[in-house]
Amino acid sequence: MTQHREKREGRRAAGWSTRAVHAGEARQKPTSAVAEPLVFSSTYSFGSTQDVIDYIQQNQERAEYARYGTPGEQAVERKLADLENGEDAVLYSSGMAAIVGLLMTVLNQGDEVVFFDECYHRSREFCSRHLSRFGVTTRQVPACDYEAMAAAITPRTRLLISESPTNPHLSVVDLERFVAVGREHRVATLIDATLATPYNVRPLDYGVDYVLHSATKYFGGHNDLLAGVLIGSREKLEPVRQLRGIMGAVANPHGTYLLQRGLKTFELRMERQNANGLALARFLESHPRIERVYYPGLESHPYHDVARRTMAGFGGLVTFLVRDADWRETAAIVDRVRIPRIAPSLGGVESLIEQPLVMSYFECTAEQRRQYGIPDNMIRYACGIENSEDLVEDLRQALEA
Ligand SMILES: *Cc1c(COP(=O)(O)O)cnc(C)c1O
Repeated sequence: MTQHREKREGRRAAGWSTRAVHAGEARQKPTSAVAEPLVFSSTYSFGSTQDVIDYIQQNQERAEYARYGTPGEQAVERKLADLENGEDAVLYSSGMAAIVGLLMTVLNQGDEVVFFDECYHRSREFCSRHLSRFGVTTRQVPACDYEAMAAAITPRTRLLISESPTNPHLSVVDLERFVAVGREHRVATLIDATLATPYNVRPLDYGVDYVLHSATKYFGGHNDLLAGVLIGSREKLEPVRQLRGIMGAVANPHGTYLLQRGLKTFELRMERQNANGLALARFLESHPRIERVYYPGLESHPYHDVARRTMAGFGGLVTFLVRDADWRETAAIVDRVRIPRIAPSLGGVESLIEQPLVMSYFECTAEQRRQYGIPDNMIRYACGIENSEDLVEDLRQALEA
């Protein structure tokens, strides 16, 4: 869709790496440095009292106190907004801080939120355990059931939320249908596109109001920082930014520097991680010890058609079920792989592996796990940028030992 807009305007969008390297940065920086300089200052000085008054009255663009924004952070926000085809981006200390920041901005007592049930468990927990304390009602409906979502909307509904692809089932939301439900009922829409990244899908192009990313994952890309970002129109993000300045969940300068550094190789990493995800998914699908593979790039995936229509690639996350294995036999496979580390998270250069039952749902009842769709024999594999033949051979030895 962006391509259509660009064609109309008679310009060609720069390629991913050109944007990832240069977007949002001044060509000539104050210090003449090529790399964006780190600024560690918590506060920013004024030359005189009159300068303070001018800053306030003329609404000047400059730093004042780091909780309200810093120069390095603004450069990263511009870069992220550019990659996502958004007008503006607000950076946070983590993905969770970003989602909490948005919900606290747009919701009032008595309001309601509807979300698809396959989602990051902490987002679900914030909605069901904490928003409820402020008189906000949250309704979960089955992932990708647009009729159920429409039916759950009441005159008090303010926000429709989904991840796409979802975690860990990798269901892919049909963004046209999702946006149509929101528009028909005049309810704002939020997509957590952490697992997709703009390289694979750009929800704003479909008319989604807010896009959220845990920048801890593919954007940072090196398993070495926590950050989150909300992207959308300047108008919609203005109150979000205001509240961030009060809540204070701002990214720290060192993490922000690592993020902008990591973003330079965004396209290179995404190409490799998409390729690794597909290679691993194909290998697993053909392996007799595997009962089922969840990967939107496979024709067997229930959302393959939607994924093919809307996604440029299918990401580095692959979820699978081990045939006839109980949780201990499944754990033995996790313990036998040699390349991926056993850890939560995804999207970094190092491959990671986990058994969702153990890593995220160990304290849940069997009934809750059934409800969330987390069987005992499920493994989630987050591809890094290692060579795919090595990842495949490693997984083969773990399955066949
Ligand atoms: C990791 C993750 C989050 C939370 O982000 P943090 O940076 O860990 O706070 C939210 N949504 C999805 C889909 C994630 O994978």
